[in-house]
Amino acid sequence: MLEDISTSLRIISQTINDNQKNPYLIKSWDADDLYSKLAGLSDDVAEIWIKCITHLQTYAWRMHANDCIKRGCPGDCGYDEARLFFHPKQAEYIAWNGDESWVITGNRWGKTDALVFRAVCQANGYNPLTNELYPTPQNIWIVGLDFPMVRDILVPKFKKQMPELGMKWSEDIDLWNFNKTDLIAKLFNKSEVGFKSADSGIEKFRGAGKDLICFDEEPPKEVYSEASIRVEAGRNLLIRGSMTPDPFKGLTWTYKDILKNTQRQADPANLRIWTGATTDNPGLSDNIIRRLKSNMETWEQEVRIFGNYAMGLGRCAFNQDGLLRLRDNAREPLEIRKISDSANLYIYEERLNDVGYCIGIDTAEGLEHGAAVLAHARPDVREAARRGDGEARGGAHEGGDDDARERVQARGPPPYASR
Ligand SMILES: [Zn+2]
Repeated sequence: MLEDISTSLRIISQTINDNQKNPYLIKSWDADDLYSKLAGLSDDVAEIWIKCITHLQTYAWRMHANDCIKRGCPGDCGYDEARLFFHPKQAEYIAWNGDESWVITGNRWGKTDALVFRAVCQANGYNPLTNELYPTPQNIWIVGLDFPMVRDILVPKFKKQMPELGMKWSEDIDLWNFNKTDLIAKLFNKSEVGFKSADSGIEKFRGAGKDLICFDEEPPKEVYSEASIRVEAGRNLLIRGSMTPDPFKGLTWTYKDILKNTQRQADPANLRIWTGATTDNPGLSDNIIRRLKSNMETWEQEVRIFGNYAMGLGRCAFNQDGLLRLRDNAREPLEIRKISDSANLYIYEERLNDVGYCIGIDTAEGLEHGAAVLAHARPDVREAARRGDGEARGGAHEGGDDDARERVQARGPPPYASR
């Protein structure tokens, strides 16, 4: 048995170091590098570190029989050769070293697995795809949308991928009260991985410089902006994101600022995007994919299966191209005023003197489904407001909006409000 394990480890290590078999290889082991890294560590730490590297290698690379052709075989079907556990786009994303990158995909593409795995590699200081050593300690945040998502999805995925050895939680993980404190994983090499919830407010995103911030699903833009400035002199902050567009929110801020940001993407080291569909994941059988699709309308498949942003749902005043033009020409409001718990008022133009403003909200205004609500003032005044999504979801596209459509058209496109 021991023999089998050491044979597997040898095959895995040879595969990693063979650029014919491992297209993601960046750094071949160099005995001197290893020696100088190990020389700086005490014996017990060095031992943990070597075990962690082995763990990451055997997590990322799985043993198969030569003749295994089963789509999505998880490995251990035989012990002839090592194959990468991640599918090619996940692997590119995990291996990528640019400053910021996102995967924007359908559900169940494996985006969160890839995101968390990069964080685990970074914390341990080793990437079993590229074979690089990262400097440690690393200070990392993994950010979910809300507490249940962090507790039920991110922490379990992290625990599954992370070598247990040499790691402690800051809290008793079973009794952990999310409202009071962040959950922090502390590693033997002094790296720290803090789990945060985007709905806890931007104040919780201040603090010292970070080495890596991972966003699981699209956070509110203020959280992204606040977190992304956690840069310290002499340290390079990496940002990684993974998301499926929300079918009920339409074209959210990441559409323009991330997915369509051609200026930043012109230099992939600045920003690089992977898009993808659920069907990229070889772990899902055709049957499962068929079943997933059967419960969805076509527009919903576009989002949840193919990872495209929803637009132009319901009875819109504009077709898809019109909506895109509006979106692309959208400018930032001059002022955003909070007018209730669920509503902001977006002001796009300087106020005129001696003009009275009255604001009426028309939920059936004819913009995209669930995404926007306009507030009308007098014809010489343009103000736009946007409500929370909850209510708009139900009926925004249903009302009789013929005359709303006329008003919009008569006046030209209103400024588009985004959150
Ligand atoms: Zn297999």
